[in-house]
Amino acid sequence: MQKIGIFGGTFDPIHYGHIELARCMRDQLQLNEVRLIPTGLPPHRPPSRVSPQQRFDWVQAAITGEAGLIADDREVLREGYCYTVDTLTELQQDTPDALLVWLIGADSWLNLTRWHRWRELLDLGHLLIAARPDYAFDGLSADLSEEFARRHVIANTDTLSRGKISLLSSPLMPVSSTLVREMLARGEDVSALTPVWRQLAGKY
Ligand code: ATP
Repeated sequence: MQKIGIFGGTFDPIHYGHIELARCMRDQLQLNEVRLIPTGLPPHRPPSRVSPQQRFDWVQAAITGEAGLIADDREVLREGYCYTVDTLTELQQDTPDALLVWLIGADSWLNLTRWHRWRELLDLGHLLIAARPDYAFDGLSADLSEEFARRHVIANTDTLSRGKISLLSSPLMPVSSTLVREMLARGEDVSALTPVWRQLAGKY
C-alpha cells in the first residue's frame, strides 16, 4: 500500500527542525513520500508578514534534492481558511488507496482539541506526534488522554493504520520559526537554523 506522509505547518520560515522531522518520518516508516504543506490562511494565528506563496517558495527551496520530500501548494492556493481536516480529506480523495500518515509536534498535539473537527481528523490517517523541548505530555485534557489511550500504538511499519496515533522517534530539537524570526530581527546569523537563510534577509 502506498504510504503518504503529510506535514503541514506555517513554515514562517522553514527550519532544520522541520526538515529533520520530515526525514525521520520518511525513513523510519518507509513512506513513499512526505508532502510539506504550508498553510495559506491559518485559522489559529494572526497572518504573517510574509505571503503564503513566499513561505511555500522557501519550503520548496529548502527541500530541493531531498529524496521523497515534496512541497505541496494546495493550501497556499486555497481561498479562505485552511483546515487540516479538509486537506486530509482532499488528499485521500486524490489517492483513495493510500494510507495518510500525518505529523504534528507536541505543541500542536496539546492544542488539538481547538482544531476544526478534531475528532474526525483522528480517523483520517495515522497521526505521528514529535516530541518538542518544553512541551510535556502530562497535563493533557481528558478528551485527548482518552483518544491517545484508545488509539496509541508503537510506531513501526507494521502498525501503521488509519485511526491510530504514535510517537515519532525523533531528536529533541530546540529550534522554532519564532526563534529564527527573532534572531533575524536582531540582525543575527541564522545559517545554523535554516538552509534558506540567504533568502530571509530583510524579510522579518
Ligand atoms: P512558530 O515558532 O512560528 O510557532 P514552528 O517552529 O512551531 O513555528 P510551524 O510551521 O508552526 O513551526 O510547525 C509546523 C509543525 O511542526 C507543528 O506541528 C509543530 O509542532 C512542528 N514543529 C516545528 N518545529 C518543531 C520542533 N523543533 N520539534 C518538534 N516539532 C516541531
